Parts: sequence; C-alpha cells; structure tokens
Amino acid sequence: MSRSGEISPDLVAVMTEWRRDLHQHPEMGFEEVRTSRVIAERLAEFGLEVHTGIGGTGVVGVLRRGASNRAVGLRADIDALPIHEKNGFAHRSLNDGVMHACGHDGHTAMLLGAARHLAESGRFDGTAVFIFQPAEEHGRGAAAMIDDGLFDRFGIDQVFGIHNMPGLAVGQLAVRTGPIMASEDNFEIIIYGAGGHASAPQQTIDPIVIAAELVLALQTIVARGFSPLDAVVVSATELTTDGVRNVIPSTAWIRGDVRAFTPESQSRVEALMRRISAGVCAAHGATCEVSYSNSFVPTINTAEATELAVEAARVAFGTDKVDPDCKPIGGAEDFARMLAVKDGCFAFLGNGGEAGQGRGLHGQYYDFNDDALPHGAAYWTSLVETALPER
Ligand SMILES: [Zn+2]
Ligand SMILES: [Zn+2]
Repeated sequence: MSRSGEISPDLVAVMTEWRRDLHQHPEMGFEEVRTSRVIAERLAEFGLEVHTGIGGTGVVGVLRRGASNRAVGLRADIDALPIHEKNGFAHRSLNDGVMHACGHDGHTAMLLGAARHLAESGRFDGTAVFIFQPAEEHGRGAAAMIDDGLFDRFGIDQVFGIHNMPGLAVGQLAVRTGPIMASEDNFEIIIYGAGGHASAPQQTIDPIVIAAELVLALQTIVARGFSPLDAVVVSATELTTDGVRNVIPSTAWIRGDVRAFTPESQSRVEALMRRISAGVCAAHGATCEVSYSNSFVPTINTAEATELAVEAARVAFGTDKVDPDCKPIGGAEDFARMLAVKDGCFAFLGNGGEAGQGRGLHGQYYDFNDDALPHGAAYWTSLVETALPER
C-alpha cells in the first residue's frame, strides 16, 4: 500500500461510473470535445490547476506539493476507434460506429481517480502532471501535445504511461527496460513497366511479374538481412495494377507495413528495401519509386524510469504481481513519441479475461474491465509517491 493509503470503495464506485459514461460517449482522435470537457471539470473539482486545448483536445492537470522542483508526467489516452460496438450491456456506445475498443475510457478513469486520491491525501514532494492525450490511435496526439510545449511548460522530468492488457491477470503489471512495443512504418513501391496486349508479352515490361518476384524478395530482408534474434516483420499487404483481364499492366503498386523494435532496424529495412526493389526492377528493365514513411516510433523504456515503475507497482500490488522483464509486443503505441524525447516508462496493466473472440483490444466485444480501475489508480498514486518522495 502506498503512503496515502488504499483507493477507497467510494472512489472505485465513482471511477466505474466515469468509465462507463466515457464508454457510452466515445469520440475519435482530435474530436474528443465532450471527453475533454468532462476531464477538465473533474480535475477542477479536485482542486487541480487545469490547462485545456493542449495539442488540440488535450487536457493537463497540475498538482503541486512541497518544495521540490521535480515533476513527473502521467499520461492517459482519451480517444476511441471507428468500430461498431456489438456489446449489448447498458453502457454500450451511444455514438454509432465509434467505440472505446482499446480501453482508453479505463485509462482516463484510472488517471482521474489517481488525481482525486492524490489531491485528497497524496504524500509527495514535487509536481504531478496529469496528461490526457488525444488521438493516440492516429499516432498524432503525442506529437501535437509536445509541439504545444507539454514538457517545457510543465517542467516534466520523466513521463509514464500504461495500457490495459487483456489476458494478463487483473492486479498484475508487466514491464521491461528497453523496447517494449514496436515501431510501425509504411511503404509503397511503384513499379513502372510497359503495358501491352496480353498475347504479346515480348512487347511489354510486365510489372505484375516483377511485383510478384519483388514481394517474395522483400521477405529476404528479414530472413537474410537480420539476425534471427532480431524481431522484425515486413508485410506486403496490398498489390494493385492498372491492368485489366486481357491487358498487361504498365504500373504496379505494392504497399505494406513494417514492424521493428529499434531505429537502427527501421533504417536497415528501408535501405534493404530500396536496394532490392531497384535491383529486381533493373533485372527486368523496369524502374521503380520507393516511399518509406514512419507512423509510430518504437516504445523504448529507460532503465531508471523502469526501476521506479517496478518499485511503485511492487508497493501497490505486491512483489509477485509484477513482471519486470516481460516480452515486448508487436503493436505500436503513440506514447513512444514522448519516450523518444523524455526519460520514461510504459507498462502493461492486467485487464484479465481472454484476448480472443473479438474480446481483445480493438475487438467489437471488447470492454475495459472495471476491476482493473483501483489497480490502475493505485499504481499511479504509488508511482507519484515513489518518484517524488517526501523529504
Ligand atoms: Zn488501440
Ligand atoms: Zn490503446
């Protein structure tokens, strides 16, 4: 238990109400107008200094204690997804086609709960900055808040985030130093050949045959360009041409997605992709254009911040409930942009249950597990009291 004591049953009940209200009113990234208003009202009620409109619809609450200049940022994401909810319970989405299918409703409620608990009874020395970030799913909200001066305006030294994890037991936390979630890059290769009659291939440079060879050759980036111990995924997910049934196309487009865990791996994939694409096309007399762009950077935890997170979780949950060296996962997370410029740590909080049959993250039957709310609030509380100890 942290210095300020347990999260009260009354606060758990209230967090559950907040969570279900948010679940009923999901909003897409940068459109979280109602969500932001609700968050700002609550933070003001608890007596925090409130800043709205940071990075679009982002909200920041500030809580100061004592004399220390140290400040930690605690971040929750607040946006929903363009998914049609299939749940039939009373708190299902009222905004048809939009759903809190990633549990950001729970993340928001837990952080609000921690803000209230710390405002009432927190024992720490320094500044706790409660960051409610828009547009996580787009991968643009973190950058928007940083560009709006998030870290400088509030003097934040370290920043922390959590994501609920279906399949991990409630009351458990999993984390690791170093890369914990992947980067996501996207690519497009345009192959320029020469089209013609389907019966006269000798008069054409057929880009579809070249594309077929190239799709397979792209698999050698990982199979032969990386150590078997490096986790990298290259997936060609779309192949289109301008041909029709009896016409050899003149142009082919290959699009796809790349996952990696370090910036070095990302650069290596790009370099190999450019070389292989140019080589395969040249071998057949075609030319190509490769565009390679980044959507999410890898989420990389620093050792110092991860130690604090592990210690705080052990205080809140018990030593045997914390995995300090979990496996990284191949999904990507916008919080990584904050970790790219700030010392910090991202951890997984147990959401219980099974991840399958549409009940996992982004599934149409997903629902954040309210039993995890007190654990999330307790972790945040413990983290503030661990990172900003009283003198
Ligand atoms: Zn998500
Ligand atoms: Zn999420």
